[in-house]
Amino acid sequence: MQELSREPSVGTACLAKGEGGRVALSSVEASLSEPREAVRDFAVSLWRGAWSRETWTRGACVRLAISFVVLATCSWLGIVLSHQSEGVATIWLSNGILFGLVITQPRQRWLAYFAMGLLADTLADVLYGDPFKVAIGVSLANSIEVVVSCLVLTWWFGWPLNLSKRRPLIGFLGVAVVAVAALTSALGASWTLLFYDAGPWWKMWRTWYLGDMLGMALLAPLVFMLQRPGFFEVLRRGQLAHTLTVLLVPAIVTVLVFTHDKDPLIFFLYPALLLVVFRLGFSGTILTIFVVAFGSIALTVKGHGPLMLIPGAHMMLHRIVVVQIFLAVAIFTMFPVAALLEERAELQLSLAESEGRYRRLAHADDLTGLDNRRAFNVRLEEEWRRAADARRSIALLLLDADLFKRYNDIYGHLGGDECLRCIAGVIAETIEDGIGAAARFGGEEFAVILPGEGIDGAQRVAERICEAVERMQMPHPGSPAGVQTVSVGVAGLVPQDGQQAMELVTIADMALYRAKDLGRNRVVVA
Ligand code: GH3
Ligand code: MG
Ligand code: MG
Repeated sequence: MQELSREPSVGTACLAKGEGGRVALSSVEASLSEPREAVRDFAVSLWRGAWSRETWTRGACVRLAISFVVLATCSWLGIVLSHQSEGVATIWLSNGILFGLVITQPRQRWLAYFAMGLLADTLADVLYGDPFKVAIGVSLANSIEVVVSCLVLTWWFGWPLNLSKRRPLIGFLGVAVVAVAALTSALGASWTLLFYDAGPWWKMWRTWYLGDMLGMALLAPLVFMLQRPGFFEVLRRGQLAHTLTVLLVPAIVTVLVFTHDKDPLIFFLYPALLLVVFRLGFSGTILTIFVVAFGSIALTVKGHGPLMLIPGAHMMLHRIVVVQIFLAVAIFTMFPVAALLEERAELQLSLAESEGRYRRLAHADDLTGLDNRRAFNVRLEEEWRRAADARRSIALLLLDADLFKRYNDIYGHLGGDECLRCIAGVIAETIEDGIGAAARFGGEEFAVILPGEGIDGAQRVAERICEAVERMQMPHPGSPAGVQTVSVGVAGLVPQDGQQAMELVTIADMALYRAKDLGRNRVVVA
């Protein structure tokens, strides 16, 4: 649950081909020139890692122990379930669970997980009453499924395998669910038939395959998702009511469809599933298919629903096969769509974020962090229009650093830059309470837009800034005050029809000139 992104450093030599064809460093050369050596290195690293102290933190041991209990219980449950429905394991839970548990763990722990899975499965079988030699063979077949799927998929898509991404998900459905489950089923069916006379091989294989496939397709993504921090987002307060309402729809439809025996209304489930896909994303979709699977299988086994329309006295096996195929089709349709939608949503979010970042960059002044001239123009036009519509006043302050050329001459350009930053800081602090918007107008000039402010209010703000700059006591030997000061021109008016925003700038500029003429370090109102 905790180490999705961190792999301990012990024995990291491996043949993992990560996303983008990245190959783990320690065996780059080996895997390129000598694949056999790379495989050997990988096996050695698995073995050594499994026995290393660093691999087995307390948390890792507790997780392994809990996993053992869960797996043994689920294997036992699978066997019990199969005896409820004419010997058919309608859904085999433990392989998918083990896969979901292994795939999120560092490779150094894999061996222990594989061994634990084998043990749990065998134990459950033996406890149920199967002879040990049957149990061990069947459990080995199950283990092979998990081992091969883990190795092939992480070799292809890198570790950790992200089942919520479309490519790894489709890879998972193709490799683990379709191909490797078929292999396991062949092994398991062949082994079982060595000891029992249980009908033709292909029927045994089909029974095994469908149950296994469903379990893998449902449980592996569910276990994977449960370990993702984002999974519980849908259960957050405020979100919970929405989640439950949406989840209730397919649950109700499942009950309605699978208790109605007169017409085959299975197709009604598709809109309900699509609703979940669109409203709750991948996590919700997995939960829903899980609910639909158990509802539909349970009701069918109990003799309800549209599949009773299949005629014949001993057709339970056939009916269950149809439910399984229906569920498999639903999974293969809905999961990729949900993953695609999730990817789209992520892409949209990152686009919005980068757009926001670029917008901020395009509108910010590099030196001071205030708005730049472009942002000022946009903002002034907006505020001007608002003031015109509401027939209320708008004020503008234009500020200019006094005798700044001399300041640069004395302290150099970098010293001047620092001084401009300080002045910008004072302006930003003074108007901090949201009364206006400050910008660097150009060079050593600044502007403050004060929407809704009359001349008097604007003058007060200007004076506060003027005094605050002087109070900073930034030495300026070339200035009569001995410190850096600013002059401010203030303009304010209620926009009249036909008047342009730039007129406000012109008026404030004239007032600023007047402030300079009158001796600087002062506020002049137009
Ligand atoms: P007045 O009080 O009349 O405004 O005198 P002044 O010296 O400030 O006016 P003037 O327009 O002659 O000089 C402005 C100076 O501001 C010239 C320029 O070197 C300096 N300046 C403009 N932009 C920057 C800047 O980004 N960094 C620094 N360090 N100086 C700048
Ligand atoms: Mg100037
Ligand atoms: Mg100046």
